[in-house]
Amino acid sequence: MLVPAARYLTYTEAVVLYNELLQADIVALVKAHGPPSLPYGEGMYYQLLIEEALVEVAQPLLTDFEQERTAPKLPRCPRCGSLAVAPAERVAWWRQLLYVGTTPMRCATCQNVFAG
Ligand SMILES: [Zn+2]
Repeated sequence: MLVPAARYLTYTEAVVLYNELLQADIVALVKAHGPPSLPYGEGMYYQLLIEEALVEVAQPLLTDFEQERTAPKLPRCPRCGSLAVAPAERVAWWRQLLYVGTTPMRCATCQNVFAG
């Protein structure tokens, strides 16, 4: 019997989890679910179904995935991957325009400025 392994995933999350499970030789079924959505699929969620017998094998993987998904994402420099980033203090006016609505961040390692 198929049982839900994860629910209310975005499409991207569903694909990531599907691939992680596949690497552990667990084939999951991705199904759309959630409330009937507005036209064109806005607000659509996905769930992953797996064979009931495999739930035990998949459980550590699912727990890890869930923790990663709900953990707050630390800002990271998109250029060098460094975590040593801080809100940029003086930002050129054109960058402020570019990053309007976000916090401009500066990487302490490579001086890259990016939207946080
Ligand atoms: Zn950097």
